[in-house]
Amino acid sequence: MGRFDRHALIDGWDQQRLAEATVVVCGVGALGSQCAQALALAGVGRLVLCDPDDVSESNLSRAPLFRADDIGRPKAPTAARGLAALSPVTRVEARTAPLVSGVGLAELRDASLVVSCLDSLAARLQLAGRCQLAGAALLDGGTSAWGGEVRLYEPAGPCFGCGLTPRDRATQDDPWACADAVVPEAGASAPVSALIGSWLAVTAVRLLCGATTGPGVIRVDAAGGTATPVTVPRDPDCPLHSRIPADLVAPVPDTVLSTPADLTDHLAPEETVMTWAPLPGSPPTRESTRLADAPPRARLADLGVAPREILPVLRAGRPRGIRYLELAEADGKGTPR
Ligand SMILES: [Zn+2]
Repeated sequence: MGRFDRHALIDGWDQQRLAEATVVVCGVGALGSQCAQALALAGVGRLVLCDPDDVSESNLSRAPLFRADDIGRPKAPTAARGLAALSPVTRVEARTAPLVSGVGLAELRDASLVVSCLDSLAARLQLAGRCQLAGAALLDGGTSAWGGEVRLYEPAGPCFGCGLTPRDRATQDDPWACADAVVPEAGASAPVSALIGSWLAVTAVRLLCGATTGPGVIRVDAAGGTATPVTVPRDPDCPLHSRIPADLVAPVPDTVLSTPADLTDHLAPEETVMTWAPLPGSPPTRESTRLADAPPRARLADLGVAPREILPVLRAGRPRGIRYLELAEADGKGTPR
């Protein structure tokens, strides 16, 4: 039998759609590894893994893609190597960076699905906000001691922030790394990571195949043997619902050598281009930052600007205004990053 023959027997399964899909997985710790592993085995064509952290010894009890020799190595490329060995049909790209610097808004927009396997509230809020900006669907997973939640957020529906209190929503984007989680580390184990990671993967596969899925938020309680839908209404006061209007986005060529000076060529004198990532040396902030304050010949990648990012351009004077530059792969010249 062929690699995917058993899949062909499943009602609703569409191997071709899976082969053509791109899934962005943010966070490749225990949950992200479990989910990404199942997606690769299912035959998803392209996975983008983003994680700023290194493998630690505590990952070894929960993340099936890491070995003792991997301690101290960056998680994303280490997981990518493991996935490539499991699934020759899956192209895996690794980004060792905080998500704001690792995956651009245009990549989130164009992905078939974005999966959040982050364990920092700040990072999850940031990803939820970026998916809303890009108009991308977000599948978020979280574990507790004996269960967890799987949450699907469509662009026009409730988002991750809608279910939080205003105090939790105000959590700052510091720290950037999961290792510095603002909440005390909770108990975690491989069986629970596998349970929630697999639930994420099943939901993702059904979405990618064009099949229906259950309600947006499911709470899984392995101790009680239950899976319960949780209703989260869209909160009109939630601050994460901004969307970048497509008609205000203009593409500009981008290569590994691109600098703020290259972007200036695309600006009117009264315009300033901003970045979502904090510039090196500046305190982390959720506000965008002026790229004009960075060294003009520094490379955008070194300034924490993600590949295929969409950057805001502010126009001073009257009328004040905003538009956006989309960093697009340059045709011909330079090396696309
Ligand atoms: Zn919201």
